[in-house]
Amino acid sequence: MYDFLISLAESLVKHGFSISSAAAIIFLVLKQRKTKKRLKKYLPFLFQDDSEVKEYIHNQQVIMRNQEMILKEMGLEPCLAPTLEINSMESATNLNRFYSSFWGTITSARDAKKSTEWRNSKMAKKKLKFDPGHGGTDPGAISAYGKEKVFVLMLAQKVAALFKGHKYIEISFTRTGDTYPSLTDRVAQAEREKVDGFISFHANSASDPAANGTETYYSRANSKAFAEIMHKHIKSATKLRDRGVKTANFQVIKQTTMPAILLEIGFISSHIDGPLLFDPTFQDAVALSIAEGICEYYGVPYKEEAAEEVKKKVMEFKINLDNKKVEQGVLIDGRSYVPATMLQHHLGHRIFWDNQNKILDIYKDGEK
Ligand SMILES: [Zn+2]
Repeated sequence: MYDFLISLAESLVKHGFSISSAAAIIFLVLKQRKTKKRLKKYLPFLFQDDSEVKEYIHNQQVIMRNQEMILKEMGLEPCLAPTLEINSMESATNLNRFYSSFWGTITSARDAKKSTEWRNSKMAKKKLKFDPGHGGTDPGAISAYGKEKVFVLMLAQKVAALFKGHKYIEISFTRTGDTYPSLTDRVAQAEREKVDGFISFHANSASDPAANGTETYYSRANSKAFAEIMHKHIKSATKLRDRGVKTANFQVIKQTTMPAILLEIGFISSHIDGPLLFDPTFQDAVALSIAEGICEYYGVPYKEEAAEEVKKKVMEFKINLDNKKVEQGVLIDGRSYVPATMLQHHLGHRIFWDNQNKILDIYKDGEK
């Protein structure tokens, strides 16, 4: 019974029930322990570790969760087990093993909840606003290679496509078509939606055809790190002249309040940069570098770590004897587990486990 309670508490931790309901269940079980004799008489199944017990406990959990909801609704704190009052290991050791073990379990439940909350806030989806510059009647820079408003929308959409269904990054746009939202409107959108980051996409232009290269702008101090990380990624993808990270008071990065940057991927007027900006392979590489930069800045994985997805693979398999299925075996992570006793029985053997002497006895039918 004792071990069973511990494993129940552990399973509560594992399954992430709130502490109060875990404590409430423990409290209930403690009460049951006091009236063990009576319970044994009326609920004998509670003292066996079998499916009925599990079902009973499951029902208790449902009851407790409902109770907790009702109490919360009424603005009351759920009844907690007395063990929650124990604050140090010293006082815990003064209690019997039963209590101190629960202190440990409850503490770890508390820690688990804390770390879950921390992870949730840390790993909550980051919302970014993409601002493809210009649009509509404002084409931006124009050269023989193309229009800035077309390039920036294409690139921004390529980056957003990389984040489709992403666990941690969510993208919205100031414009998704050939329209011109005012700069004030672009800022207002980002502020209203309380996005975590803002990226304005642009391409440069100069009357000097020799001017070329990649540069990244920020305006406010809280955007510097974002600009630096993004520039590091983008310049290595464009492989164009590195014009560095610069500051400028462009309206969209100045008047917004979240980390905001403005990218000048390359010079549309340059005979080096210009053709590249409209090259799909170049665009794909730059889009990927922007996505990776965003993930580095926000500290989230671009691709889910493979390790996180690896779970124990459990699979059943058939055990055939003379082409007839006789038993079921289990594959756990590629390792097979077969019910030895049953199998030996089918083969005309008997298996006995002598627990006292730690001997596994196998003998043929009728020998003993
Ligand atoms: Zn521009």
